[in-house]
Amino acid sequence: MLIPPARPLGRELPMLRLVVPPPEPQPAVLPASLPEKLILTDELKAEISSESERLEQAEPQEILRWTAQRFGAKFTMATAFGPEGMILVHMLAEVAPQTPIFNLDTGYQFKETLELREEVKRRYGIEVEYKRAATSVEEYEQQHGGPVYRTNPDQCCLHRKVQVLEQAVVGKHAWASAIRRDQSPDRASAPIVGWDKKFSLVKVSPLANWTKQKVWAFITKHNVPYNPLHDQGYTSIGCWPCTRAVGLGEDERAGRWSGFAKKECGLHTS
Ligand code: SF4
Repeated sequence: MLIPPARPLGRELPMLRLVVPPPEPQPAVLPASLPEKLILTDELKAEISSESERLEQAEPQEILRWTAQRFGAKFTMATAFGPEGMILVHMLAEVAPQTPIFNLDTGYQFKETLELREEVKRRYGIEVEYKRAATSVEEYEQQHGGPVYRTNPDQCCLHRKVQVLEQAVVGKHAWASAIRRDQSPDRASAPIVGWDKKFSLVKVSPLANWTKQKVWAFITKHNVPYNPLHDQGYTSIGCWPCTRAVGLGEDERAGRWSGFAKKECGLHTS
């Protein structure tokens, strides 16, 4: 009996060959070993401007995904656990859970705010890191002859927030903020992607064009945890000495630094 010659394997392989689609083009990821400080070159300026335009109508998840891919380990987020910040935490848990998130713990936060940090850990498995000034509240008040927020809140915010953030972002190239344009005149022109002169970072504001209604609709729909003080008339929550509930018809940030001309803590002003 004639044994048919074995068919050369090479003739069969094409039948079995897997067709692998070409990889999707990905934005460049900056390795963590890049220089500590990001320099605003003309090339970076152009990239910021074109990405901001491209992402203007994008969903916040897409904006966060782009930022996480573009800046890798150099991307971070600060949150005070406001409703917008909680939405970004919720989204980051889905699209870039490795992103380090921190809170500026001034020593004057409401206990409800601090409890929310624990809720974030339970719900999302994300440990929000506290960043603090070198001095405790007691030491700080002793050094300044009493609570500085009563006499000079700008100075208090500078010491307890702005300078702490400056330290927290050393070595980072981009940060996410949860500001909305309709919150205040200072925030009205916030780009989706911009250059933060104060901290020499790329700043992304994925919720810049969201409204308060949209924020609360998202929170309700996705059962995002939020500060229970919002149910007691506190529309914007910062440190307890500088926050009060607002009355009907008052601006949503009217309860911050009530009695002072101050409207911003200094993190989002240039
Ligand atoms: S919000 Fe008030 S207590 Fe908090 S850092 Fe600013 S001035 Fe100080």
